[in-house]
This record gives sequence, structure tokens and C-alpha cells, in this order.
Amino acid sequence: ALIVRHRMRSSGRWARAMAILREFEDKCGTPIGKLRQVADAMTVEMHAGLASEGGSKLKMLISYVDNLPTGDERGLFYALDLGGTNFRVLRVQLGGKEGRVAKQEFTEVSIPPNLMVGTSDELFDYIATELAKFVATEGEGFHLSPGRQRELGFTFSFPVKQSSINSGTLMTWTKGFSIADAVSPFYAAFVILLMISIGQDVVMELTKAMERKGLDMRVAALVNDTIGTLAGGRYFNNDVVAAVILGTGTNAAYVERAQAIPKWHGLVQSEEMVINMEWGNFRSSHLPITEYDQALDADSLNPGDHIFEKIISGMYLGDIVRRVLCRMAEEAAFFGDTVPAKLKIPFILRTPEMSAMHHDSSPDLKVVGNKLKDILGITNTSLKTRKVVVELCNIVAMRGARLGAAGIMGILKKIGRDTVKEGDKQKTVIAMDGGLFEHYSEFSKALESTLQELLGEEVSSRIVIEHANDGSGIGAALLAASHSQYNDIEES
Ligand code: BGC
Ligand code: MG
Repeated sequence: ALIVRHRMRSSGRWARAMAILREFEDKCGTPIGKLRQVADAMTVEMHAGLASEGGSKLKMLISYVDNLPTGDERGLFYALDLGGTNFRVLRVQLGGKEGRVAKQEFTEVSIPPNLMVGTSDELFDYIATELAKFVATEGEGFHLSPGRQRELGFTFSFPVKQSSINSGTLMTWTKGFSIADAVSPFYAAFVILLMISIGQDVVMELTKAMERKGLDMRVAALVNDTIGTLAGGRYFNNDVVAAVILGTGTNAAYVERAQAIPKWHGLVQSEEMVINMEWGNFRSSHLPITEYDQALDADSLNPGDHIFEKIISGMYLGDIVRRVLCRMAEEAAFFGDTVPAKLKIPFILRTPEMSAMHHDSSPDLKVVGNKLKDILGITNTSLKTRKVVVELCNIVAMRGARLGAAGIMGILKKIGRDTVKEGDKQKTVIAMDGGLFEHYSEFSKALESTLQELLGEEVSSRIVIEHANDGSGIGAALLAASHSQYNDIEES
């Protein structure tokens, strides 16, 4: 099957390859009219997800965060961020409005591969041990008020059904895939996270592990990374009303009026509630989906789920490119008479490598040539071939970026910030984070310009996209502060 039709004439091959590329490009099309339909569908699904449990593919999860940081937070707080390749632990000394973040320290820990065959207890034991080590290095500039227990904000970047600010169970695994050979540390992290099972209360597991390891610490807040980013963003800028993560996975959170959440029967003590949309699971007939996306979805750990995420986020973009190249190699001998064997390996072409090829500005596209050689073992590519590869990266990235913008437009519509009201000078700030947004500049540029196009000039001058660099860690610590067990005592 590796041998491609030898007798295909070279011009015939090229024409066939271009036909595959053009067909893909057509199906990925995101004209502005289509984006408006996607934005409208997003708004409609947001309403449906808020109306009733299971009312939409958009879970619209209640975060139990009903007040965001004000700046008054004081004291020493810890945060743990789990959900990417590594986990991070952080401590901050908060000094209220005058002192702000007086001091901050963090450390990043990778999860050792030998834990991959372990249990969730072993995973949490490891995390608790590393956390205890970090606590032991607490030094000058950090002060725990006497008689107090240390408190932690726990950022967990997966869909969690919360029952309070500091409890919740894992709903489904996302950003995952099944591969037998988890050699790359990047993928290993996701395999490791699979050790936590659906339905497990992650706070309880962490708390038990901390007890086993003799670490006296209380989890005061459990938050999604979008919620942490929103809280961190708000602390520094009062106009932040939403947060979007564009990284390995993608998701958004925003501040909703409590009145607009019919499914929430909890005690409505506040005017507002932060909602974790889990927008990765958004689905609409307006989304431009190709056969390559369908195949990727079918091969994933969560087929049928997180379709929006699978055409937008960093976990998948590189693999979509690989799949199209593979078809061009098989059916049009795009890389010569044989299909490069490595092209068949799922996820071998990662989004950061795709981004490097896409941004190659050398006249002979040297970066593209080297990546094709080093990653896929394809040597001696012509400039013409390399140009096609760049074009393919562009098609995949532009579709993702433009759909991301449409998603944001959907949120702005839902909260009534898509129009300008007379005399209103209010800014609307969206805190953004994630490696895709941060490092793939063609992607973020396209996202921002598409959002401007959707909003029009007048409105778009009021909307600001702000990079909240690693806001989720500090955000979780801030939410631990605002949900500290000692707050009520102080207030009364
Ligand atoms: C998860 C979300 C998370 C997002 C960004 C998605 O795969 O479902 O909970 O916020 O990735 O990390
Ligand atoms: Mg980050």
C-alpha cells in the first residue's frame, strides 16, 4: 500500500495534489456570513445550556464563583495548576489594594513516566509530595497568620461538575487520545491524566493525598483554567468580563447574570455567576467540517465530542495538516513514489512545528524543508512543494482562528456587548491565554482581525483582547483567598 501509482505523470500528480488541496480549502471556508451563523448558533446554545441541565452540547457549567477578586485579598495563598504537560505550584503574598501581589514564587514539575502505569492515588501522592517540598521552601516575604492553615486554589483544566466552590467530579476526558506508545513527554501527560477516573472528586483525592503525606493544607477553591484566567484578569483590570483559553485545548468562561441562569436552583445570593462554557464541545451544522476532521474525531479518545475544540486547538491543528499531506502523498505521490512512513503516525506533526513552518520567512523556506526532513523524514523537497505545505498550514490555522473569533462574538452577543449604546464608554476586556494564542502569531493576528471584522469599527474600539500571561495560577490563588475559611470570621 506504500507504493503509489508509478506511472502517474509528474504533471498529473501535481494537478491531483492541487485538487486535493483546493477541495480541502473549499470545505474549510469561513466567509463572514458563515461566521455570523456560527456566532448566532453559539449564542443560542448558550441560552439552551443555561436553561436546563443537558439542554445543549454546551455544558455551561456553574463555577460557584459568584464574586471575582476585588483587590482587597490579603494573606498567603497557594495554587496548583494541573492539566497540561507539567503541573505548576505557586505561592503569592497578597497585600490588599496597597500591597497587591507583594511576592510570588512558583515551580514547575513534570510527571515522571514511571507513574504512567500507576493509579490515581499514586499520581496524587506524587503531586502532594512535590507540593509539600515547595511549601518547605517558603521563606522571606511570605507570612501565614498565626494559627491558620495554608489554603490552596486548585486549577484543573478539564470539565468538572462542581457541587460547591471546592468540590467537583470529573465529567469527561478531553484533549486525550489513545496511543500505545506514549514516549513523548507531551503526550505522556495526557495519558497520565487518564488515571483519574470519571466521577472522581478531584478535591477529595488531592486532600486525602495531602493527608497521607502529612501536608496540612486545605483546598479552598477548585477552578477550571478559564475561571482562573478570568479571576486573574479581573484582579488587574476591572473591565475583564470573559476569558478564553487557546492552547492544547480551548474553552471560555464569562460573567453571567444570576437571573439569566434558569437551571441554577442554588441559593442565589449574588447578582452574578461565572460560567465555564466548555465551548470545546460546541457543535453546529454551520461549522466547516471536512472528512479529515471526521477521521481525526473517529480516532480520538472522545469521538463525537469536543468537535469545536478539534478544529481549533493546538492539540489537533498539526494532525489535521498531517492527514491532508498523507492523502496527497497516497493519492498524488506528493512526496514521490512512496508514501513517507512517518506521515502515517498520528500526532507526529505537532502544532508548534506547524507554526514554525507557517511562519518561515526565508526565501527558500528552509525551516519548512528542515521540519519535513527532521519530523517526517522527507528529504529534498522542492520550493514549490514547501510552498504548498505553508499554504496548507495557513488554511488549517485560518479556519481555527476565524471560528475562535466567531465563538467570542457569540459571547459578546449573549452579554449584550456586541453593540454600542449611546454615551456608553465602557470597555469590554477578554483575558486570553494558552500556547496557541501566545506563540502562533498568524493564528492570534487572524483571530483579532476577524473579531474586528465581525464587530465593525465602532464597537471593536471598545473591545480589548488582553494576554493574561499565566493568569490562571494567580487567579486560583486569588479565588482561594476570596473563599478562605477565615473570611467569615473576619467579616463578623
Ligand atoms: C477542557 C477545558 C479546558 C480547556 C483549556 C479543554 O479540553 O475541556 O476544561 O478549559 O481544554 O485548557
Ligand atoms: Mg499558560
